[in-house]
Amino acid sequence: MSPVIRMREITAAVTREPNEYAVESVSLADPEPGEVLVDVRATGVCHTDYHAYTSEDTSFPVVLGHEGAGVVEAVGDGVSTVSPGDRVVLWVLPSCGDCEFCRRGDPYLCQARREVRGRMMDGTRRLSQEGEPINHFYAQSSFASMAVVPERQVVPIPDAVPFEIGALLGCGVTTGLGAVTNIAGVGSGETVAVFGCGGVGAGAVLAAGAVSSGAIVAVDLDPETLATMETIGATHTVNATEADPVETIRERTGGVDYAFECIGRPQTVRQAIDVLRPGGTAAITGTSSTPPAEIDLGRFTKGISVVGNIVGFTRPRVDIPRYATMYLNDDLALDAVLTGRYELPELGEAFAALDAGTGIRSVVQFPEGA
Ligand SMILES: [Zn+2]
Ligand SMILES: [Zn+2]
Repeated sequence: MSPVIRMREITAAVTREPNEYAVESVSLADPEPGEVLVDVRATGVCHTDYHAYTSEDTSFPVVLGHEGAGVVEAVGDGVSTVSPGDRVVLWVLPSCGDCEFCRRGDPYLCQARREVRGRMMDGTRRLSQEGEPINHFYAQSSFASMAVVPERQVVPIPDAVPFEIGALLGCGVTTGLGAVTNIAGVGSGETVAVFGCGGVGAGAVLAAGAVSSGAIVAVDLDPETLATMETIGATHTVNATEADPVETIRERTGGVDYAFECIGRPQTVRQAIDVLRPGGTAAITGTSSTPPAEIDLGRFTKGISVVGNIVGFTRPRVDIPRYATMYLNDDLALDAVLTGRYELPELGEAFAALDAGTGIRSVVQFPEGA
C-alpha cells in the first residue's frame, strides 16, 4: 500500500504564462524527509522573480517567490536544525549537501540544483491544483501562504527580527553584504563605488559603510534611492541620468579600490572596471542573462581584478544569523532598505515598481492567520 500523501489548501500567486498571475487556492503536500513546512509571513520581491515572471523560458505553471521569512509549522523526518514555532529566513539557493562544492563548504557553487528546475531536490513536486502539478521556484515558491522548503535553506533567526526584515536577508540584500565582506574583503579606509542601488546594491553600501571610512560612491538613476543611500553609508552619490559616473567618480576619488556592479548590464560592468584605480577590484554580480560586455584589456596592465559573484558567496547558516544580530544591535540599517509593502493580490504593483526602478526593496506580507 502506498503511503497517503496529506495535502493542505494554501493561497498562492500562480503564474501560467509570462506577465500574468492569479491568486488561487493551491494544494501543498506534507514535507518529505529533510523538508520543512513554513507558514510564510513575508517574502521579498526580487529581479530574479521578475525575470522568471516575464520570460518565455520559465517552466509554467509556477509559484514564484524565493526570499521568504516565516514560522516553522511542521518538519519532515530527519530534520534536526529547526522545530515548529521557530522564526526562520528561507534562503534562495538549493544545495545538495553532498557534491564536491557542498562538502568543501561552498554550497553556493552546488551544481546539483541545476538539474531540479521547477522541482524539489528529489525531483518531485509538493504543489498541485486539482491533480495538476505546479512547478516550484528555487525549491521555495514563497509567493504563497505556506511553503515546503529543504532544511538546508531554512535558517533560524531571533524572534525579535520582524518578518519583513528577515525576508530582506533571503537573497538580494545578503548578496550585496556578502559581495563586500566575503568576496572583496574591503578594508578600513578603502574606497568603493556601487553601481545600482536596489536590494543588492543597498546591501553593498551598508556593508561598505560598516567597514570603511573611505569614500563610498553610490550610483543609481532614482534620486530618492540615492538620498537613502546617503543615510546608510554612501559619502557621495551620482545620478547617472545627470552625470557620467566614471568621470565623476574619477574626479572625486581618483579611482576606487573596489567597484560593485549590482545590475548585470554590459554598460555598468564596463563602468565598474573603468572606475578602478590601479590594483583595484571589480565584483560583478552574477546574472546568467547578461549579454557579453566589452572590456578594455589595457585595464589589466594596471593590475586590476574582476571577480564573479553568486549570492555574495553566502553560507546562509553562518552569515544570515550574523546579519540578523547586527540588525538587532542597530549595526545594519535594514529598515531603510525596505521601501514597499504589498499584499499578495498586489504582486503586480510590486513588479511594476521593480520594473520602473523606484524604491529599493519591497516585500509581500501575509497577515497572520490569512
Ligand atoms: Zn551540492
Ligand atoms: Zn532574490
